[in-house]
Amino acid sequence: MEHDAGRWVLLVHGGAKEMKPGEESDNREGCLAAAQAGRRLLEAGGSALDAVEAAIRTLENLPVFNAGYGSALNERGEIEMCSGIMDGRTLGVGAVGAIRGVRNPVRVARMLVEEKEVLLVAEGAELFARRKGIELCATDALATPTRESELAEEHDTVGAVALDLDGNLAAGTSTGGLTGAPVGRIGDSPLPGGGYYADNHVGAVSFSGDGESIARLALAARIMASFEDGEEVEQAIRKALDKLPHVGGDGGGIAIRKDGRSGWWHNSPHFAVASASSDDPEPRAWLSKDEE
Ligand code: ASP
Repeated sequence: MEHDAGRWVLLVHGGAKEMKPGEESDNREGCLAAAQAGRRLLEAGGSALDAVEAAIRTLENLPVFNAGYGSALNERGEIEMCSGIMDGRTLGVGAVGAIRGVRNPVRVARMLVEEKEVLLVAEGAELFARRKGIELCATDALATPTRESELAEEHDTVGAVALDLDGNLAAGTSTGGLTGAPVGRIGDSPLPGGGYYADNHVGAVSFSGDGESIARLALAARIMASFEDGEEVEQAIRKALDKLPHVGGDGGGIAIRKDGRSGWWHNSPHFAVASASSDDPEPRAWLSKDEE
């Protein structure tokens, strides 16, 4: 079934993780704020790509999420971030890996969508950001006191998927990666077909979870194949996530098919999600599937 013109759909997520007591309302409110940011654009006829970027920027600016401000610290106690965004209309991809000193990595990734290169890392990504006029900040300006006191290995990622009124799809991710990770470590989040993918003829998906496992399994590519086989959204995500424990870890995913059907699933303890659509424009948020 093709997409009905005049419909928009948006899902955002705040990461597959185990929430600490007291973090629930910040997760919920943050996802709702991100969904509102995307909704405003989509309702006004804006593009899925702009909506995904706006939603992810909102999440990056909030300290409760491991992306942008409030990112996890690596083995050196420093912040290196990854982000990817994809335009389902053109199959344009922009991604940055192990980038330092930018408040909104998704902004840099978005600027790369128009370029030939798909992925820039570390100093190269920072140089690109600077050339595009993005102001760099001190790397420790992104660290929050909470992250500095975290010793346990933690992970999560933020993401969004959108369908706009013109039938275009987009998907994106942004993450501070894993606490204590080696310098230069890049997970699935900037890898198209790993942590995210969008194709107007198929659908859009964004994952969070154990990055090495998601990359090995090419989870986003699996979702695209399932959608091409006509699989329902939640069933496709569930089947893909069921493979994760075999290679290690857990995760969560949000997705939209080209016909506008959307859904989400996770096998992590929590997965903060908010969604909105032209059928139900006021965003709603959940912290786990049990709550839906
Ligand atoms: N996938 C992210 C990474 O490996 C982390 C996460 O989503 O939990 O960097």
